[in-house]
Amino acid sequence: MIDMVDKFREQFYKKLRDVNDVKSLEELRLDFLSKKGQVSALMKELSKVPDEKKKEYGRLINNFKKELTDRFEDRKSEIVSLQEKLLIDGAESYDESLPVNCPDGSYHPITLVQRELEDIFESMGFDVEDYNEIVDDYHCFEALNIPEFHPARDMQDTYYLTTPKELLKSHTSAAQNAILKKYGPMLHETGRPIRAVFPGRCFRNEAIDANHENTFFQMEGIMVDKDISISNLIYFMKTMLSEVFGREVTVRLRPGFFPFVEPGFELDIQCLICGGKGCPSCKNSGWLELCPCGMIHPNVLKHGGINTDEEPFKYTGFAFGLGLTRLAMMKYGVGDIRAFNSGDLNTLSQFKSI
Ligand SMILES: [Zn+2]
Repeated sequence: MIDMVDKFREQFYKKLRDVNDVKSLEELRLDFLSKKGQVSALMKELSKVPDEKKKEYGRLINNFKKELTDRFEDRKSEIVSLQEKLLIDGAESYDESLPVNCPDGSYHPITLVQRELEDIFESMGFDVEDYNEIVDDYHCFEALNIPEFHPARDMQDTYYLTTPKELLKSHTSAAQNAILKKYGPMLHETGRPIRAVFPGRCFRNEAIDANHENTFFQMEGIMVDKDISISNLIYFMKTMLSEVFGREVTVRLRPGFFPFVEPGFELDIQCLICGGKGCPSCKNSGWLELCPCGMIHPNVLKHGGINTDEEPFKYTGFAFGLGLTRLAMMKYGVGDIRAFNSGDLNTLSQFKSI
């Protein structure tokens, strides 16, 4: 009997050492501590021993059972706590929604610039509009006085979808026609001027470098009313830029050709990274082309259903296309445009407190 107890004890401890999960723990319990286990088998053997030995062996088996039960419970507690820890650790390791070094999350710098601009323009009475990223050829080009085969299309090579005439918009101007048609009737009926900005993601088939991306953000703005002139355009642009940068910035206006404006201008801003000395971001020119603008071409107004006749009023308007991505580079001193689409949290999370 004593030999059997020693033998089972040795087997039990050997198996206990290999127990690492709940399943093998249960197997061990069935082997030794269940009604059909080794300890019960020993109890049955007890009936075969002589009466004078029964008390001694009975105590031996009971002590053995208690020893095994205690060790079993100890190991069970260890395994359960280990399992709980593993579950928690596992959850931490595989939760991809937790940003690195950035527990509170942060806004993308372009989002910050966009929201700031929206606030500025809303304070000047502009409506903020949204528009599709997939547009058709008419809205992206034809309605903007860029007919098929016009050479201006070469400057805006974009990504065409399999559906005929559908493409990813190459500029936010693609929304102009829809905005004019939305607010035009109100202008004609109540005299309420059209004042709208429409930010959005744009796409072009570009070779990517420190200054060019195939995906970037613009904010287009238009104002249409009676007797709108270039003076109105300059006033709004100056007000907006001084708000964005919080200081006087040096700008210049150059004549520029864009089919959807007449006359058209290029609004340049002196490079805030190098202060005009020249750096990779400004192609060493000291200036950054920030904003094409001008007076909306009468053909564009006509496509949008705006009355351009002299009677009862001659409606005119200005339009501008701000490069939000470029503006964010200028505002935060980002030297390489590729940082914005990199998904690099170490870079992007730096803007959370701005
Ligand atoms: Zn520069």
